[in-house]
Amino acid sequence: MTARTHDVAAMTMLTWVVASGQVQPMSLATGIVAVAANILGALTPDLDEPTAGLWNDLPAGSIIGRIIHPLLGGHRMITHSLVGMFAIGWGLKYLLIHYVSRVLLVDMNIVWVTFMLGFLSHLIMDTITKEGVPWLFPIPWKIGFPPFKALRVTTGEWAEKALELRGVFETYRKVVFNTSPLPLS
Ligand SMILES: [Zn+2]
Repeated sequence: MTARTHDVAAMTMLTWVVASGQVQPMSLATGIVAVAANILGALTPDLDEPTAGLWNDLPAGSIIGRIIHPLLGGHRMITHSLVGMFAIGWGLKYLLIHYVSRVLLVDMNIVWVTFMLGFLSHLIMDTITKEGVPWLFPIPWKIGFPPFKALRVTTGEWAEKALELRGVFETYRKVVFNTSPLPLS
């Protein structure tokens, strides 16, 4: 799926969680960093693609991407699995709490949760594409939903565009009709 679809899906998921659940009040700074972390989380699984959007935004990023690509086992391998999600989540939490929190005064727990929501939304969205996702890596089964490939989405085709629109619509609907998007204090 395209980076834009993943951004939209992550924002939709975040809006749903905030609008539907009990979210503690937070500072404006935490809210801004949390939204950025959500988008970053949604793009992280595709760092195993040398052409991923995040790599193109970094200086010499495409070169680094090409070096890291084989280390991650190629596209849609470990970064698209439960093992990868837990490993990255654990490493990130450690970094946020022990290092980033010294220079950035925001609620790191909230930032971590929104990052992980973005990450999870990415795997869910890739699951409905024809290629599927190796959720149980290192077991090499690529799992997709629905089970019949013909019913799944092909990246870049009309069905993906329709999903994007749907996500934007849902986010808008939740924000406008249900509750304010972020409980800022
Ligand atoms: Zn992906």
